[in-house]
Amino acid sequence: MIKELEKCDFCEEEILPGEKPPHAPLVRMHNECMLRNILGSVAHHQQKCSCFGGTENDPAGVSRRDAARLAVIEFARHSGNSMLAGWPIMKRVHLRPTNFNELSAEERWAIDRTLHLLDWDGKEGLQ
Ligand SMILES: [Zn+2]
Ligand SMILES: [Zn+2]
Repeated sequence: MIKELEKCDFCEEEILPGEKPPHAPLVRMHNECMLRNILGSVAHHQQKCSCFGGTENDPAGVSRRDAARLAVIEFARHSGNSMLAGWPIMKRVHLRPTNFNELSAEERWAIDRTLHLLDWDGKEGLQ
């Protein structure tokens, strides 16, 4: 039997084994996309979205899946939630340079790629 590959309802990329929430079999999204869907966009966590009178949404220039990863990271940074703060991915977030927020988006994403924040598959912390 050939099992058809599932596509993510959020980013439309294929979902490979282990990339879905293990305890939610009906969810058709990657771990990080499901979290983004629940938690809101990067702009939301920076209070720049329409909820706060702004116009920003998911960042342009990265894939929707990367936008989901960035949103989860942004949420964890702002939440003060100690469970999230203990994630291995958040330890890597602390490796960003101190002037990170003054850099251009392209420079920030290049750094996040080298820190393996943008190829995060959502498994850390969720399983
Ligand atoms: Zn996805
Ligand atoms: Zn919002």
